[in-house]
Amino acid sequence: MTRKSILFVSALTCLSGGLVRAQQVCGTDEFYRKYRAEHPEVAVYEKQLQRELLQNMKQLNLQKFARTTNENEDIVYDVPIVFHIIHDYGAEYVNDTLIYATVQGINEVYSKTNLAQMAGVIPTFAGVIPGTTKDYIGKANIQFHLPTKDPNGNPTHGITRRRSYLASNGDENSKFDQWAPDSYANIWIVARMSANHDRAAAYTVPIPGAAANPYIDGINCLYDYTNRDNTLSHELGHYLSLDHPWGNTNNPDIACGDDGVDDTPPTKGHNPPPAGQSGCTPANLYDTVCTQGYFKKYSYDQMITLYGEIYPGLSFNQYDSTSFIDYPDTTNSQNVMDYTYCSKMFTYGQTQKMRAALISTVANRNHLFADGNLVATGALESWTDLPPVADFSLGRISGSIGDKVPADKVFGCVNSYTFTFIDRSWNDTIAGLSWTFSNGAANATASSKTVTNTFSEPGWVDVTLTATGNNGSGSNTIERKAVYVADLTAINPDGYLQEFNPADIGNWPMFNYYNNNFKWSVSKHGMYDTTAICYNNFDPRANNAYTLATSELLGTPAGDYDDMFTPAFDLSGSQYAANCNLNFMSSSTSRTTVPADMRDSLEIWYSTDCANSWKLLTILSKGALHVQGISEVNYSPAWPADWTLQSINIPAGAKSNKTFFRFRYKPGAGANGLGSGNNFYMDRLHINNMPTGVNSAMLETAGVTVAPNPTKGNANLYVKGGSGRAEIQVADIAGKVVYRTQQALNGNVTVIDIPAASIAVKGMYLVQVISNQQTRTEKLVVY
Ligand SMILES: [Zn+2]
Repeated sequence: MTRKSILFVSALTCLSGGLVRAQQVCGTDEFYRKYRAEHPEVAVYEKQLQRELLQNMKQLNLQKFARTTNENEDIVYDVPIVFHIIHDYGAEYVNDTLIYATVQGINEVYSKTNLAQMAGVIPTFAGVIPGTTKDYIGKANIQFHLPTKDPNGNPTHGITRRRSYLASNGDENSKFDQWAPDSYANIWIVARMSANHDRAAAYTVPIPGAAANPYIDGINCLYDYTNRDNTLSHELGHYLSLDHPWGNTNNPDIACGDDGVDDTPPTKGHNPPPAGQSGCTPANLYDTVCTQGYFKKYSYDQMITLYGEIYPGLSFNQYDSTSFIDYPDTTNSQNVMDYTYCSKMFTYGQTQKMRAALISTVANRNHLFADGNLVATGALESWTDLPPVADFSLGRISGSIGDKVPADKVFGCVNSYTFTFIDRSWNDTIAGLSWTFSNGAANATASSKTVTNTFSEPGWVDVTLTATGNNGSGSNTIERKAVYVADLTAINPDGYLQEFNPADIGNWPMFNYYNNNFKWSVSKHGMYDTTAICYNNFDPRANNAYTLATSELLGTPAGDYDDMFTPAFDLSGSQYAANCNLNFMSSSTSRTTVPADMRDSLEIWYSTDCANSWKLLTILSKGALHVQGISEVNYSPAWPADWTLQSINIPAGAKSNKTFFRFRYKPGAGANGLGSGNNFYMDRLHINNMPTGVNSAMLETAGVTVAPNPTKGNANLYVKGGSGRAEIQVADIAGKVVYRTQQALNGNVTVIDIPAASIAVKGMYLVQVISNQQTRTEKLVVY
């Protein structure tokens, strides 16, 4: 590149400190820079794409670029496009109509029929390219179609919906349900991007990256940018090889740059305006910073720089000193690929580059518009009226801070909790709704879009919703156990011990909100018996992550959460006033030794108002959660010494005559997105007023443990290793010895019985072991 004259403009831009949040930008280059560094193999696809772009554009005379006509430019390329709504029933659950309008808006830009937008194009770009008869505003002649057939040949309108916690964590992991990317352009709509893309309204996997990993080929877009300021036309520009006008960075307004397209003037690009404001300001529209007196001249070396090599079909003679483009003296701030929020057009050169990319073999872009593909996807067939897909969610009810009421299952009490059900049916215009509710519903049937209800009978409520479409397209019914209604009968904790036998826990509902493998369930690995509760958190993908297909790596447990609720406990008795503890045995390991990567947590909440509000009692994480250390295999406790007492003091505010507890497990992930935690077990839950709170020692490290602890009867002392005779002494809290015995140590694990009769009085005891090898004291709680 050469400059006839260079204008230096002061770079003393006033940085106001961002009092007003700017609108979001595009994240494509930021994503691709990182992706490229991690996947150097994409370089080969970059070269191939450059070679094919040049070949495909060679009909254009590079020497006198804009004076020629691409003889193929009037052929319309049709491309099937599918929208995947990744949602959590929030605002990101955009309706079908918005998608239809979005596709129409894209097609207007790509067929140059966006007349209202084009009316505002400044004179520099409204006419022809100087010295030519070619319009500056390019007509891409590419049309996107919501298909009528899905990959299995079933009827569709080209929209899918999936509920996932990754709706709030949009990135490669949230690209669920991709349709073959060489047959459909895939768009995913999400609520929020992950931290890696926190500035991005949307981003695209560029063609070389898509060639290297087809499973991520497509575009992620925030729901509120779906049909806004040509955001998706911009991303589809990247999808078809365009750069930002200032080059391939996400940071405009830094240095003059070029996008390698011959008729887009160089520019610094423009930062987005503050939220809600237009970027169609004179300063943007008539920006001349990089463009005054600028022309671009091709030499052999510059061709090498631009394209990596000279395409064999072209000779260097075509790039002699007369090969230059004289640019307008104003930047093309209204270009769809800028960030001005004033976008109205592509240039002619950009449209020709997109067409060249579409007929490229890289990432099989040339298969998208192939005749056979258009038949297979039914992209050009007229739509039939499809039956609706019935769906509903539970209303979001504001609660305590951090208490996100989940939207497909809700817990509440008999007659004391008002549930809100919201119709979410889609895929057709809904002409009629019919609800039914079990469990003594106040409204056993309903036909409105939103229904509130209370229930007089405890247990899981069966909810059915039938949605009927218009034009005789039929109806569809969904049936779901959507809410759990808790009994108001409160448990007296005195003497209560929950061993999680399935027969005992019908009123301990477990909620797997996202219907995946990370969930609460009954386990056979009890501490003394054959039952316990397990949060199934072993991610089998993490063991052989490097041998799995990339498609199998989609998804991550990070962001998931699942609840288990207790029945009500009556904690109003005076015996609980001074001291009261929620006790249970736990057994859990982590898969990582790095504390920063231990991202699991167990939150324990309580409610004293029938689940209308919840307060956080405590959070167990890292070492306090994974007391049993590290385990790479699918963990389960093998024997009593693998268990640890967790004792949590219950504050005065939680001591009501109906206190519910909620155990919320949040699995975490390591840097590779795969589960970093392992299974979490709990057993022997009880509430008592003993001053416990002491974790039992781990036999593996200490060599001695007492279990069960706490106990209602017998306890055993376990001594690992050692030889000779050991002396055992049990004393009460006052120091009075209540039991004494001697036992020969067997070198493995010696089990010594502490008779129930000797520890019949409730309270704390000290169990002392004196052997040739060690002297240790363990606390034992009897309740
Ligand atoms: Zn972009």
